[in-house]
Amino acid sequence: MDKRVAVVTGAKQGIGKAIAIGLAKAGYEVAVHCRNQQSVPEAQQVVEACRAFGVDADCFTADVGNFEECAAMVAQIKSRFGQVDVLVNNAGITQDGLIARMSEEQYDQVIESNQKSVFNMMRQVVPIMMRQREGSIINITSVAGLYGNPGQLNYSASKAAIIGMTKSAAKELGGRNIRVNAVAPGFIQTDMTEKMPEKAKEAITGAISLGRVGMPEDIANAVVFLAGPQAAYITGQVLEVSGGITM
Ligand code: NAP
Repeated sequence: MDKRVAVVTGAKQGIGKAIAIGLAKAGYEVAVHCRNQQSVPEAQQVVEACRAFGVDADCFTADVGNFEECAAMVAQIKSRFGQVDVLVNNAGITQDGLIARMSEEQYDQVIESNQKSVFNMMRQVVPIMMRQREGSIINITSVAGLYGNPGQLNYSASKAAIIGMTKSAAKELGGRNIRVNAVAPGFIQTDMTEKMPEKAKEAITGAISLGRVGMPEDIANAVVFLAGPQAAYITGQVLEVSGGITM
């Protein structure tokens, strides 16, 4: 295919890593994002895994909850690769807790990292895509944003907001040939879910129709589909990739 550049946030591990590698395998050049210098060695391994498919890749750092850091990073990516065709807003955190015990800090941190980050990145990348008259943005939400989840008021709020942002952006940018979609993972085996109590993991696995937890590659496959030409007439949609979870 013609040169295509993808930016993937939170790509040093887990779902983001699988997405970066999946896009490289599909022929995209990849900007692999991680939080800070400490994360660079791990992110660099993802860069090498991408380059193994014969595509260009490089690593960039920013706190995606910070507007200025996102602006600086996207400028670096643009100058390094010359274009941005695909943006995957994947970075996210959990700070779970019951409402009666949740601190303001726990709430605000999750909103910043998960929700404001999507605005921060779109604000920088959309003008580039508008000038190119083409682009595809994929926001990683969650089944928690669709159905809610006890102990995840902050996380569910951030992920539900991402769905609203996806639909608004799709309506605003469709005329510019920029598609905006969301992927809602169910229970995927990563560091994020590893820290959950065993009992909760068993209960969730029991509610999955396909009878197994998801793998990061299950999400990556959906993202690669939505990024590319086979999804050319799909925008403003939320694709649930959950093995048929019922919450
Ligand atoms: P993960 O292994 O914890 O990876 C998330 C990555 O995002 C980490 O590398 C993290 O960096 C980075 N990140 C978070 N906040 C950031 C910030 N403010 N600035 C820069 N980097 C930041 O989690 P995952 O399971 O792969 O999740 C990826 C995405 O899928 C998240 O949006 C998550 O909400 C969503 N999701 C996951 C599941 C699941 O079951 N795993 C289900 C539904 C949705 P640090 O390591 O430095 O914090």
